[in-house]
Amino acid sequence: MFREAETNRMILVRREGDYMDFCYRHPEREGVFYCQKDGTRMCEECACCHSPRIYCQFRTACIINMLTKEGELSSCAEKVKSKKSA
Ligand SMILES: [Zn+2]
Repeated sequence: MFREAETNRMILVRREGDYMDFCYRHPEREGVFYCQKDGTRMCEECACCHSPRIYCQFRTACIINMLTKEGELSSCAEKVKSKKSA
């Protein structure tokens, strides 16, 4: 329950517009997703777990990890693949 509330709060922060940071790769885009482990913000296009094979204490509460599992976001490995083929 607590973890779900934490995730929802991240989404709410964005909607309230009282705090905004930018994507680490796209300074003109809003960094909607935040990696607590790396301390980086990412836009929807960039959002993926940068080190999915390495233990992360935040993973159980990580919205990026959750959405990647649900198929809402593509993993970093898939992003690299699609870049090469394009
Ligand atoms: Zn980006």
